[in-house]
Amino acid sequence: AVRTGAADVGSLLGSVNQLFEEALYVGDLQTLTTEADARAIPTGGADLPERPDAIHVENVSFTYPGRTAPSLDKVSLVVPTGKIVALVGDNGAGKSTLARLLCGLYQPDSGTIRWDGVDTATADRAQQFASTVLLPQDFFHWPLTLRAIVTPGRPGHHDDAQTLAEAAEFAGMEHLLQQQDRGWDTLAAKGFEGGVDFSGGQWQRIGTARTYLRATTTGTDGRRPFLVIADEPTSALDPAAEVRAFDNLRRLAAEGATVLLITHRLAASASADLIYVLKDGRLVEQGTHEELMAVGADEDRPAAGSYRTAYLLQARQYAAELP
Ligand code: ADP
Repeated sequence: AVRTGAADVGSLLGSVNQLFEEALYVGDLQTLTTEADARAIPTGGADLPERPDAIHVENVSFTYPGRTAPSLDKVSLVVPTGKIVALVGDNGAGKSTLARLLCGLYQPDSGTIRWDGVDTATADRAQQFASTVLLPQDFFHWPLTLRAIVTPGRPGHHDDAQTLAEAAEFAGMEHLLQQQDRGWDTLAAKGFEGGVDFSGGQWQRIGTARTYLRATTTGTDGRRPFLVIADEPTSALDPAAEVRAFDNLRRLAAEGATVLLITHRLAASASADLIYVLKDGRLVEQGTHEELMAVGADEDRPAAGSYRTAYLLQARQYAAELP
């Protein structure tokens, strides 16, 4: 039968939602990579701790195939669990590349990434993926219902009104939902009959709700993710929503998650527990905001730290933009 009307399209898509669930999550990871083979998640290998004390990056170098210059050059850093860790640096510094390696999408050419004592290169990749949540910069515009988009791999939550309400509150989606007659059953698919087109800022909120649900619930695999990687999570948000988004990341960390915040906005990284500064694939500075602002502040030693210089420059630019 030929189906017509919004309800029919919605139910048709609803029935295939199940099939999309795994693909949805891998799809998030794929927005960080162009490699089609990220879809095939290898299983087997050493068990990873469900909640390690820290991720240890040791002497990691990585060069993309076909390139000569390394995108990461002997990087060593520690990401302690339950903290907000900011990864900052100019475009091309290697931030997203390090995120890809931490997700397990690529393996280091040399050096190791360990979760406590377990080397992720020889560990079960499915476990690694199940323990990692990514809030990508450009959230993929899945042509599905809002309900399906925000609850991948979380059966039961499709109908759990309380959980969905929490996610909406966390992501600031209440207004967006109120605007739609069909609420969570709104089809996010421009061009489909009954489908709705959302703005970049609205998609960022939808992506945040999805991240929240993945980060706060245990999946079918029995794992609750502990590592949340947010890649410029507020680039499309207005200032009020941005403040709220950072409060939320703090909330996730308070609940025990590690939040790795990738940003070039140093006002955003200032409240992180720990800041790593990358430049041309190398780790050039590390510390808290206060520690990094002290580097080069001494007038007798004018060799200003790159973080301090960049922070002051951004603050000045921001002040100049104020009315
Ligand atoms: P950042 O996230 O800090 O902007 P990236 O990690 O995206 O930096 O990029 C670091 C370096 O790696 C850049 O020189 C960039 O051109 C290169 N690079 C990034 N992704 C790829 C890719 N898929 N293939 C080849 N080179 C890449």
